[in-house]
Amino acid sequence: MRPEELRDFELTDSQKMIRAMARDFARKEITPNVQQWEKEGRYPRDIVTRMGELGFLGAFISEEYGGAGLDHLSYGIICEEIAYADWVCASIISVQNSLVENGILHFGTEEQKQRYLIPLAKGEMQASSALSEPSGGTDLASLQTTAKLDGDHYVLNGQKTFCSHASHTNVYFTLATVDKSLGRKGICAFLVENPSPGMEVTPLNMSTMKRGNIAQIFFDDVRVPKENLLGEEGQGMRIVGADLAVGRFSVAARCVGQAQACLDAALNYAAQREIFGKKESEFQMVKQMIADMVVSIDTARLLVYRLGRLMDANVGRLTSIASVTKLYASEVATKAALDAIQLHGGYGFVEDYAVGRYLLEAKVLEVGEGNSQLHREIIADWAFGIRDY
Ligand SMILES: Cc1cc2nc3c(=O)[nH]c(=O)nc-3n(C[C@H](O)[C@H](O)[C@H](O)COP(=O)(O)OP(=O)(O)OC[C@H]3O[C@@H](n4cnc5c(N)ncnc54)[C@H](O)[C@@H]3O)c2cc1C
Repeated sequence: MRPEELRDFELTDSQKMIRAMARDFARKEITPNVQQWEKEGRYPRDIVTRMGELGFLGAFISEEYGGAGLDHLSYGIICEEIAYADWVCASIISVQNSLVENGILHFGTEEQKQRYLIPLAKGEMQASSALSEPSGGTDLASLQTTAKLDGDHYVLNGQKTFCSHASHTNVYFTLATVDKSLGRKGICAFLVENPSPGMEVTPLNMSTMKRGNIAQIFFDDVRVPKENLLGEEGQGMRIVGADLAVGRFSVAARCVGQAQACLDAALNYAAQREIFGKKESEFQMVKQMIADMVVSIDTARLLVYRLGRLMDANVGRLTSIASVTKLYASEVATKAALDAIQLHGGYGFVEDYAVGRYLLEAKVLEVGEGNSQLHREIIADWAFGIRDY
């Protein structure tokens, strides 16, 4: 049995079919274009429409609301396959499904579901999460953006940063406080349409993700209709927290896809490169690096599959298991990128070989969706019995 055949272990026929479809799409319609998009700094807008048609942007949403009605593991498999081809396209899937659609599905009104959920699930609309602020991204509850009720509107003032896909977004999922003295209990979630008068989107100059369209958003007396409050006043942190494990699951699955892309690039390169009169792949220390990559990626994938199955079994809150999975998979992705660069020698830094780019793309996932230090804190508290979920 080849290592790739082992990945079929215990997948259902439907999950295997979804993986084949996602892989075929990613390798035919995304992979061949990524280098060109990178050079042009081009955002893959056409791919959003295609991913919507394939059901990838409404993975959990029932058919009634325009989605594909898939299980969690299938969603993870889609994230993995798309991330193998491209970070930006995989990020679109994560953001749209994990936080925004789940938030609307679990806390939205029927009117919000009709207005936003259906077009989002079909890929006719795009969503972003605008949560991080200049004063902090990890500690979301310390936010400074305010929302003041004025008649039948909330008036938003403040600033968000690092908002991915920002100018391509039709609706932002954001947080603001109605009363700072209430702490977390004052924080509310809003769906803010783009464009809205008073809102300014300014691209951030990043050293990576140049085509991911990452921006700052300024709210200057932005009037948001009362109907666009998601859930009730004060439920913002609860809404963000409710789908934390799903967000971390999707990021972990993406890390597995990215790490696999690093391994495959390293295998191809080492098999053809000749050094000291023999193939690079024949050196024992090279084999050792490849073997370690295989073991860590296999382990990360098994952790992702386990988390997907636990979520499908609906066994309750899975915060700590999600931390274990996300922490491990994100560190495996960074290490795989570092090793792939090493095995490419100087070519690891040449644009035509993607492995150099993979490194920063992997590192971002150690910072977002909870940084590695935060996850270690959660895992240690769980081990000590200070938390039980
Ligand atoms: C490419 C990219 C895309 C992004 N997309 C989005 C998006 O679409 N929407 C959005 O809202 N945000 C987005 N972000 C922001 C991202 O979520 C934040 O950068 C992240 O949450 C960390 O916040 P921060 O940068 O303010 O770092 P801080 O919160 O200031 O943390 C800095 C560092 O301090 C350490 N630290 C933090 N907390 C702890 C702790 N509890 N224990 C020990 N050490 C700790 C960690 O090393 C951490 O990396 C994106 C970021 C990047 C780079």
